[in-house]
Amino acid sequence: MPLFDYHPESIRSFVDTVSKMVEHKSKVDRRLFLLVRGVVWMASESEFLLAVRRASREICKAYGFEDLNDAFEFFESMDIGEFEAQDVEDDLDERMADLGDMVVSVYDCVSCSGAPNVGETLCAFEGHIILGAVEAITGDKMRVLEYKCWGLGDGVCKFVLFPQGDLEAFKEARSVVDGRKR
Ligand SMILES: [Zn+2]
Repeated sequence: MPLFDYHPESIRSFVDTVSKMVEHKSKVDRRLFLLVRGVVWMASESEFLLAVRRASREICKAYGFEDLNDAFEFFESMDIGEFEAQDVEDDLDERMADLGDMVVSVYDCVSCSGAPNVGETLCAFEGHIILGAVEAITGDKMRVLEYKCWGLGDGVCKFVLFPQGDLEAFKEARSVVDGRKR
């Protein structure tokens, strides 16, 4: 009997738990979040991220958010991190903002804030929260890429969003990020 019987029932129960936290507007218990996320993630990263993206989209539609900042405020109230759109601070941000449609920063991110430089981006969870929110508000299918992260030695996480059809720009941005990884 495994310690956690997670697949696929627990993915559903994790999403249910997050939905309940959302309903009650409670904050995320960070240690529990990291533990559960780690376990569920090992089971099926892509399925988990699809569920997060869908949940974020549905939450934004259910609350009727029309402005991305309203969605960000909501996720901040859950203690996921502090979100900021179009927060362009240096050449890399500028390059990403040029390639994509939008850049979004997350300060004090629940997944990686304070993490050591491990040569990897760590925050696909937050990326898919942002992705779902942007899709709900714009009605367009998008792609997301994390290009700065505590896991890459940055003190902030930054994401860039692309329209789904703009694969060339996405690939170019991804190769820049791959060059920052170890
Ligand atoms: Zn990160």
